[in-house]
Amino acid sequence: MTTPALPFISLVRIGDVSPEVCARVAEGVSRRLGLACLVSGDVAPPDFAYDERRGQHCSTRLLGRLRERAEGVRVLGVADVDLFMPVLTFVFGEAILGGRAAVVSLHRLRQTVYGLPDDPGLTLLRAEREALHELGHTFGLVHCPDYTCPMHATRSVEEIDLATGGLCRACGARISEAIRGVSGNGRVRQASPEPPSRRRRSLLSALFPFLKGQPQGDAPTKPCTPKIPDE
Ligand SMILES: [Zn+2]
Ligand SMILES: [Zn+2]
Repeated sequence: MTTPALPFISLVRIGDVSPEVCARVAEGVSRRLGLACLVSGDVAPPDFAYDERRGQHCSTRLLGRLRERAEGVRVLGVADVDLFMPVLTFVFGEAILGGRAAVVSLHRLRQTVYGLPDDPGLTLLRAEREALHELGHTFGLVHCPDYTCPMHATRSVEEIDLATGGLCRACGARISEAIRGVSGNGRVRQASPEPPSRRRRSLLSALFPFLKGQPQGDAPTKPCTPKIPDE
């Protein structure tokens, strides 16, 4: 890949992940943040992060590998395996607060994990939201109390579905300033009003998660906990 002159976020496919989905996530991140996001040609197999006892991949180990990469102002890893952090049952993603690297996985964003028919469009929306959330942490954002903001801490896909639009005004302003610091650009697209019917449906499923089904055989994770910077 030729390294572009302008600042960009490098999206790294980790192992066997759909290139189409990665391209769409990169497009969504670019659109939301006003900062180019480019899919790197490299593919890092996630085997080194596999924990045999848990049958899951450790997101912190993946982050360690991602932050070694030199390209881009931020590195976003996209995996398609079940992720965990040592103290949590599972995580949708992880990031280093104010650091260079973030990782998300498509695995638990799929309806099929919850015993429901596949919905690739919904998986993509959730993936964009999670990418924005974890990248937000790398730009110094902490969790937001507004449940419709992608920076809100979520424990389920139902909660993710409430926040698939743009960042709230406060988070948007904060991240714009951080992006301006690294790129000279800072036009972050904020939330646009959603059709009320969709919001009502999402809210219902958040209040009554059993309507849509829950992960089988797992207690919900605690909210995403960004790692304290160690670099
Ligand atoms: Zn917010
Ligand atoms: Zn978080």
